[in-house]
Amino acid sequence: MTGIMKGKRGLIMGVANNHSIAWGIAKTLADHGAELAFTYQGEAFGRRTKPLAESVGSNLLLPCDVEDIDSVDAVFDTLKKEWGSIDFLVHAIGFSDKTELRGKYADTSRDNFTRTMVISCFSFTEITKRAAAIMPDGGSIITLTYGGSTKVMPNYNVMGVAKAALESSVRYLAVDYGSQNIRVNAISAGPVRTLAGSGVSDARLMYNYQKRNAPLCRTVSLEEIGGTGLYLLSNLSGGVTGEVHFVDSGYNIMSMPRLDELKV
Ligand code: NAD
Repeated sequence: MTGIMKGKRGLIMGVANNHSIAWGIAKTLADHGAELAFTYQGEAFGRRTKPLAESVGSNLLLPCDVEDIDSVDAVFDTLKKEWGSIDFLVHAIGFSDKTELRGKYADTSRDNFTRTMVISCFSFTEITKRAAAIMPDGGSIITLTYGGSTKVMPNYNVMGVAKAALESSVRYLAVDYGSQNIRVNAISAGPVRTLAGSGVSDARLMYNYQKRNAPLCRTVSLEEIGGTGLYLLSNLSGGVTGEVHFVDSGYNIMSMPRLDELKV
């Protein structure tokens, strides 16, 4: 362990289990000395998150459903009371009705479009605003996005549209809070086998396709995403804000499948 995050406190939102991207980032931050608080959505996820939080020495575990703004406010009230201030925040929250994560984007319903945007995009703005209010000495905030925001990924549909809006939010929020020395960035992760990831139809096919066609010829690990989380949330990235940083084995730079892959 190195102490790069020693003396820093932050909130992790989006751990569902030990496969969650938020957990990969949390574990890395804790390994480097950070003090963590966690939120969980609903009792079932709470039961899975509790032992994980305890394993990194955290006893601040708070319920939060971003569709219920009172529960979001309660989280930040508690943090203010317990800690006074925070230094960083991880937003790793996304949801869309999986029956619409297949087929045509054009078939997205109005209800699911709205719900997907509120949970997967607007919650980041609401949370950043509340986090910034308890970052008197500046801070760093990250969210998680996916390349389906700028290029069409089959079945990703409305989530791609929400991620495009999320990435744009990152840029606007970076300007809103830049003068307070609060940095706002996104990690664009390659496909990872998680609960949310498996909600997208043909997820396994997409996972294997990216594995074969990314420059590094593999997908990415939670530890690798965690490492980039550590960089973006620590002073190492002090001059970086408003960025979407890919951690995808380089897949995003490709314009066609690898030639060796086409020849087999
Ligand atoms: P996950 O299922 O482990 O995490 C998703 C989290 O979102 C869960 O903890 C869930 O409780 C939370 N959530 C959903 N609706 C919520 C609500 N109303 N209120 C509060 N929390 C809510 O899956 P994950 O893949 O680790 O997802 C984390 C983030 O990473 C998401 O934004 C996802 O879109 C993004 N992402 C995932 C991949 C991937 O391939 N898995 C790739 C790139 C980006």
